[in-house]
Amino acid sequence: MKELLVASGNKGKLREFEKLLEGVVETILSPADFPGLPEVEEDGDSFEANALKKARSAALFTGKPVLSDDSGLCVDHLGGRPGVYSARFAGEGAGDAANNARLLQEMAGVPREERTGAFHCVIALCLPDGSCQTFDGMLKGEILDAPRGEGGFGYDPLFLVPEHGQTFSELPMEIKNTISHRGRAMQMLKEALQKREDVSR
Ligand code: IMP
Repeated sequence: MKELLVASGNKGKLREFEKLLEGVVETILSPADFPGLPEVEEDGDSFEANALKKARSAALFTGKPVLSDDSGLCVDHLGGRPGVYSARFAGEGAGDAANNARLLQEMAGVPREERTGAFHCVIALCLPDGSCQTFDGMLKGEILDAPRGEGGFGYDPLFLVPEHGQTFSELPMEIKNTISHRGRAMQMLKEALQKREDVSR
């Protein structure tokens, strides 16, 4: 694929996508390349709905293929919350510390066997003709009753990956990026783009 717009203002995500799609996409574009690109409100009731809304709207506006993602943490004991509200669990504009504190508070006293949950990430790829494809990555884990580790962001210090016996904050970044919900969704996207290239050759 010649050009692909990654509809995310997050520089870390842009770099991750750039790295992953090296050799598959010639030029990665960012929202900075399209002044006036409308901001999209993430008001969908699923990760998929939000990712599709962002990618579809940017593809129609720019006339380019667009990638967008939406992610979050779903906790079984909380009926799947915070889910699409992960970034604002403790209120609009809340930071990671406040969101983690809210999670600890809602999970206080819950026994270990009921502290299961999963991170989800849906990546949407939309073309200017309105057609879209989605890629859904997920990783199950356990919500700890106290933070562990220094690295990462968001709910990383409270999310234990049982197979590794470490939280997302404690795991080396290369391992987190390979096994994570986002890493898995990205891998599926990369395979789909590679197949598309093979077909068009
Ligand atoms: P968004 O996909 O950038 O909208 O992220 C939604 C929110 O989900 C983030 O603000 C974090 O709170 C949470 N989240 C998503 N992925 C991760 C992760 O890999 N580690 C920790 N928190 C995450």
